[in-house]
Amino acid sequence: MMRFDIITIFPQIFDSYLKESKIAKAQKNKIINIKIWNLRDFSKDKRKMVDDRPFGGGPGMVLKIEPIYRAVNFIKNKNKNKKQRVILFSPRGKELNLKVLKRLLKYDGLILICGRYEGVDERVSKYIADEEISIGNYILSGGELPALVLIEALSRLIPGFLGKYESLEYSRGSWPTYTRPAVFSPKKNIKWKVPEVLLSGNHQKIEEWRKKYLKKYE
Ligand code: SAH
Repeated sequence: MMRFDIITIFPQIFDSYLKESKIAKAQKNKIINIKIWNLRDFSKDKRKMVDDRPFGGGPGMVLKIEPIYRAVNFIKNKNKNKKQRVILFSPRGKELNLKVLKRLLKYDGLILICGRYEGVDERVSKYIADEEISIGNYILSGGELPALVLIEALSRLIPGFLGKYESLEYSRGSWPTYTRPAVFSPKKNIKWKVPEVLLSGNHQKIEEWRKKYLKKYE
């Protein structure tokens, strides 16, 4: 079973998504275990503050190191004998792809730190996180969507996550799909057709056609 511990200041973001479909089933079947931790619960501040102004000035607020340090330590101690990896989401991190996912698959648990505002005190990256991961060359408002993306993409590689009609091999590539009607006419004299080969009934040819689209990752 793979464990995901998410540290966030917006725990409610995860409620609906993680209760849907395959992810929910995988949790029930103990293929994955997801725990959400509210960073504010690890603040010793009276007002549960977790952010502060950046040194050197500039706009926005920065997530403080102390509550993050406490949260990560707490989670690590709970699962002491497990092989865990601490990941900080950052637009400056290594870009997530299948190769990175396969490497992460070898851990028993991932501790996922979701940034917010102007980001996270850089010492979290330097001293607490094992690695920084980006989900693409653009800026989001927080690490919550990246955490969901990572969890879903990684879970699909865990044996037993996908149903029996979706093999592991197929989860690693993608090809175009069509369904009825075989010919769609949005207007007179216009026909949008499905590729002949898919209607041929020749399974070997269909397989070859699909394989052309499978991206080679490694
Ligand atoms: N100015 C900050 C951006 C902060 S965005 C900087 O340059 O780092 C707020 C948070 O959203 C980040 O701390 C990070 O956790 C998350 N985030 C934003 N874009 C992301 C991306 N492309 N990949 C992963 N995390 C991202």
